[in-house]
Amino acid sequence: MKMSGTIAFMLAALGAPLPGSPGVVPTPAAVSGVEATSTRLVQELVTRHGEGQRVRIQRGLRQVRAFWRTEDGDERAFEAFAKAHFAGDQSAQDALFNRLEFVLESAFGHALEVGRDFRWYSELDLGPMLPVDEVLSGYDPGAHFVDDAFTNKLAFAVLLNFPLSSLEERQRDGATWTRRQWAEARLVDLFAKRIPAEVNQAAAEASGQAERYIASYNIWMHHLLDASGHRLFEPKKRLLSHWNLRDELKSRYAEGPGGLARQRMIQKVMERIVTQTIPAAVIDNPLVDWNPNSNQVLASTVQDSDQAIPAGFKPSSTPEPDTRYKVLLDCFLAVRKADPCSPTAPTHIARSFEEGRQLPEARVKAILEEVCGSPLVKQVARVIEHRVGRKLEPFDVWYNGFRPGAGLDETKLDALIKAKYPTPAAYKADMPNLLQGLGFSPERAVWLASRIEVDPARGSGHAMGAQRRADNAHLRTRVGRDGMDYKGFNIAVHEMGHNVEQTFSLVNVDHWLLNGVPNTAFTEALAFVFQAQDLKLLGQPLPDAKAQAEKTLNDFWMTYEIAGVGLVDTAVWHWMYDHPAATPAQLKEAVLGISRDVWNRYYFPVLGQKDCVLLGIYSHMIHSFLYLPDYAIGHLIAFQIEHEIEKTGKLGETFERMAIQGRLTPDLWMRGATGRPVGPEALLDATGKALKALQ
Ligand SMILES: [Zn+2]
Repeated sequence: MKMSGTIAFMLAALGAPLPGSPGVVPTPAAVSGVEATSTRLVQELVTRHGEGQRVRIQRGLRQVRAFWRTEDGDERAFEAFAKAHFAGDQSAQDALFNRLEFVLESAFGHALEVGRDFRWYSELDLGPMLPVDEVLSGYDPGAHFVDDAFTNKLAFAVLLNFPLSSLEERQRDGATWTRRQWAEARLVDLFAKRIPAEVNQAAAEASGQAERYIASYNIWMHHLLDASGHRLFEPKKRLLSHWNLRDELKSRYAEGPGGLARQRMIQKVMERIVTQTIPAAVIDNPLVDWNPNSNQVLASTVQDSDQAIPAGFKPSSTPEPDTRYKVLLDCFLAVRKADPCSPTAPTHIARSFEEGRQLPEARVKAILEEVCGSPLVKQVARVIEHRVGRKLEPFDVWYNGFRPGAGLDETKLDALIKAKYPTPAAYKADMPNLLQGLGFSPERAVWLASRIEVDPARGSGHAMGAQRRADNAHLRTRVGRDGMDYKGFNIAVHEMGHNVEQTFSLVNVDHWLLNGVPNTAFTEALAFVFQAQDLKLLGQPLPDAKAQAEKTLNDFWMTYEIAGVGLVDTAVWHWMYDHPAATPAQLKEAVLGISRDVWNRYYFPVLGQKDCVLLGIYSHMIHSFLYLPDYAIGHLIAFQIEHEIEKTGKLGETFERMAIQGRLTPDLWMRGATGRPVGPEALLDATGKALKALQ
C-alpha cells in the first residue's frame, strides 16, 4: 500500500470522471461576438509579439476561452487578461515556467506537510487519540487548490501559454519531446479540467450510494442449505460480495475434494447475484435459510446472530429487483453529466483510458485479449487439472494452488526480527545495511536512508512520499510492544520500496513537474521488487527455480482471470453509452449477454459451462467507474519491471534508472525502462518457461 501526496490525489482527480466547464459549448448567438473579439485580439497580439507567435496565440486564447465563465469577467476582462499574461518570447516563457514550477512545488509540498501533521496523531501510534483528531484527519489543505487557481486566474495564465495535448499526440510525438515539453504537459494537465460543482456533487452522490449498496451486500454462509438441507459453512460466517465470497472459495482448495461442494455452492450464490435471481430477503439476513440451487427461502431454524427469529416468520422469495443494475446505471448517468464540457475526452470511457491510465482503449483491449486467448491458458489449465484431480469447473478461474515450495518457519523468523528491530528507530538505523543488501551502493544506501523517516504506524504499514524536494519520505511501520515480527518486516520492506521510488522520482528527476511514476501500478511493481527480496535480507535462502515457476504460473492465472473481467467492464460501459435510456432490467440483460460472450470465447473452452455469467460478479464493476482493466495491466507492468531487474542482475542501478524517468506515459516509461512498451510478452514468455521448469 502506498500513501501518495496531495498532488497525486489531485492528479488522480484529473483522471477521474469529472471534467469541464459549462462554458465550453457556446450558444450560436454568443459565437459570432466572441469570434469577432478573438480575431481582433489575435491580430493585436501578433502585432505585438510577431508572426512567429501566431499559432501559440491562437491556441492559448482557445484554451482560455474553453474554461472562461461569466463570473471570470466580460469580453473586456478576457482581452485585458490575455494581453497582460501572454508570454510572447522564449525568455518570458522560461521565466513563467520556472516561476510556476517553483511555486507549485511549494504549494503542493507544504500542503502535503500540513495534511501529514493534521493526521499525525491519528495515523501514528503515539497514545490515545483526542476527539479533535477525527476533525483534523478529515481536513485536506490542498483540496481547493484547482478551484482557487481558476478563481484567481493562475490556471488561465497556464492555459494561455502552454499547450494541452491529447493522449494520441503524446503516444505519437512524446518520444521526441524534450523533458521540458513533458514538464509543460504535466503543468497544463493540472488545469485541463474545471469541474462544475454540481457535476462533482452528482458523481460523488452516485458513488457514495454505490459504495453503501456494495458495503452491506453480505451473505450469511451458515444459512445456505444443500439439497439435503445440510449447512456446509460454519456459524456466524458473514461474507461480503464479491471479495469475501471469492476468498472463501479460494481457501477451500486446501480441503481437496472435500471443498468441492462448498466451492460449487459459492459459485451458485455468485450467479444468483449477477442474474438478480437472488431472493432479496437473503441479502445480509441471518433470519432466513436459503438453498441457492432450488432458490427456496425459509425462516431459519438456527439463531446465528443477536437477532431472534420472530415466531411465525415467513420470508418472501421475491428476487432482488435489479438493484445491482439500477446502482450501476445511476453511476453512469451521473458521470455522463461531465461529457458535454470535456471536449478532449468526451466520454467517461475516454477519460478512463486516455486521462486515467493513459493507455489507448484499443491497446488495452488487445493486450487483455492476448492474455485470455493465449494458448498457454490450456497448458496451465492442464497442470491445474492434474493437481486437483478432476475436470475444471468455472470457479477454478480462482484456483490458488500454485505455491512456492515448503512454507516458512515464521516463528523462528519472528524471534530473529524481534531481537533485531525492537523499535522503529532500530529499523531506521539498519536501513543503510538493508539497502546495501538489496544491491544499492554504500553511498546511495546512506543517502536514501537519510531521506526516509520511520514512524510507528497505528494501522498496518504505509509509505508516504514527500512533494517538496527538501522534505523526506515517511515509512510507517507497525512494531509490536515486543518488537517487529516477520509480517511487519515483510510489509516494511515493501513500503521501503515505495519510499525509495518516491525519493528517486522526486529528488533526482530533472523537473519537479515530472516527479512520480506514470500510475500506481508502477510504484506497486517497484515495491514488490523489494518485498520479494526480504528473505535474502534476513540471510535466508531465496525461493528456488521451482518456487519461482510456481509464482509465475500463479501470476499468469490471476491475470487470465482478471483480464476477462476487465473486458466485461469495458464492454458494459460501451453498452451504457449506446443505450443511455436503458432500464435497469435492460442493463441486466446486457451485462449477462456480455459476460456470457466473453466467457464463451475465452473461458468455456477451458473451464466448461457454456453461458456462465461468473465474470459479472465483481463489485468494482458496480461502484468503481471502469476501474477493472487496471488490475490485469498492473500484473503485466509488475512482471515487466521485475523481469528487467532480474535480467540486469543490478537491482540498485536498474531501480534508480527506472525511477528517475518521472511521470511520462506508461508506454514511454516502460520503453525507457525495458526497451518495450507495456505489454504481455514478459509474462507470457516467463509462463512458457515456468511450464517447462515444472515438467
Ligand atoms: Zn504497496
